[in-house]
Amino acid sequence: MTTSATMTAPVADELGLDMAALRAEFPMLHRTVHEGQRLVYLDNAATTQKPAAVIDAVADYYRTCNANVHRALHQVAAEATALYEAARTDLAGFIGAPETECIVFTRGTTESINLVAHGWGDAILKPGDEIVLSEMEHHSNLIPWQLLAARTGAQLQFIPVLDDGTLDLEAYRKLLSGNVKLVAITHMSNLLGTINPVREMVAEAHRAGALVLVDGAQSVPHFPVNVTDLDCDFLAFSGHKMLGPTGIGVLYARRNLLESMQPFLGGGEMILKVDWRSATWAEIPHKFEAGTPNMAGAIGLGAAVRWLRQFGMDTLHRHEAALTQYAIERLEEVPGLEIFGHAPERGGAVSFSLDGIHPHDVAQFVDQQGIAIRAGHMCVQPLIRQLGHAALSRASFYLYNAEDDVDALVAALHKTREFFDHADG
Ligand code: PLP
Repeated sequence: MTTSATMTAPVADELGLDMAALRAEFPMLHRTVHEGQRLVYLDNAATTQKPAAVIDAVADYYRTCNANVHRALHQVAAEATALYEAARTDLAGFIGAPETECIVFTRGTTESINLVAHGWGDAILKPGDEIVLSEMEHHSNLIPWQLLAARTGAQLQFIPVLDDGTLDLEAYRKLLSGNVKLVAITHMSNLLGTINPVREMVAEAHRAGALVLVDGAQSVPHFPVNVTDLDCDFLAFSGHKMLGPTGIGVLYARRNLLESMQPFLGGGEMILKVDWRSATWAEIPHKFEAGTPNMAGAIGLGAAVRWLRQFGMDTLHRHEAALTQYAIERLEEVPGLEIFGHAPERGGAVSFSLDGIHPHDVAQFVDQQGIAIRAGHMCVQPLIRQLGHAALSRASFYLYNAEDDVDALVAALHKTREFFDHADG
């Protein structure tokens, strides 16, 4: 097993990150795969590994104060409720939300977006209204709007993606002259790595009278995101992509929107008064948290946010930006490798094809060498097809990755190339 011995991390050194110490906090990074090989984990856009601080927070909750929140009057329930609500406060601070009540715990980005589609869209949209999306949306920020459009008669419009992987902002401005009620846009593409100029896009949408939902699944985990600064109306993100547990995520929305929106799920905890045929709703955010919530998940996500804060999201971003640049330069050394997405503002999700080799074969071949990357349609099928492919491979980075991981990937890709060239010959 290798951690510090062969590690090269000049970028991390400059930022004062001690990569060996940092990696030591992630138990998963110490397991081996395929007969003793170090796990080189480069599938962070799908889900990240968890530091001991997060695993311990979840385990401690179950060990020391497991009880249902908000309901009982006994001591452990009060402790559990305090921890759950403290996590909400941590999350509000992390994204610069003006009020803790604007943080709704959900299962993740997907559920947060569906909540808005049902809670806001069903009541507001009429036939002829328009929802503007982009061509780089993850299925999670596409299918809920397709379903909403089918329910309401609203139309979907798409901002085109240009050759370099950026959005066609001229086309966006033209789309805004229509009857647009909502712009739903990813902050960072999980396929192309493009970071979209969301702040400017929000301002333009507001001038056109539309609300804006930001899909923050790939941004909140990787760089500073402040909802007050962005001035967005909704922000959705997932805990598991930012060191937190699975099954927990957040919907941020402005207070007035949350107050006027209909509940998405009905059940216990989200009510004020119930009669046989009608009910009134609890105050926000509880109106949107029907049933027993994911208490351990929320507490674990609070721990993740506190853990990230010790480095600062700006440091994390600079580390990933430098590593991504290094990765792009090194990957281009591999014969027949093409990278998709060359936006000047980009994050650490790098998708590529290897001429003549199916992405599934690439992923399986590098996996044999201990390297976990993703291959497939990456939940952006229409865009991948538009790029002329059915699937691509993707390496994606997080704070615990360094140049040694990139070097291992590049060496494995050279071997893949040689193996398949030899097999073809
Ligand atoms: N949006 C983007 C940009 C994503 O990358 C993902 C997950 O990969 C999602 C939404 C969906 O996140 P989740 O599956 O956690 O709901």
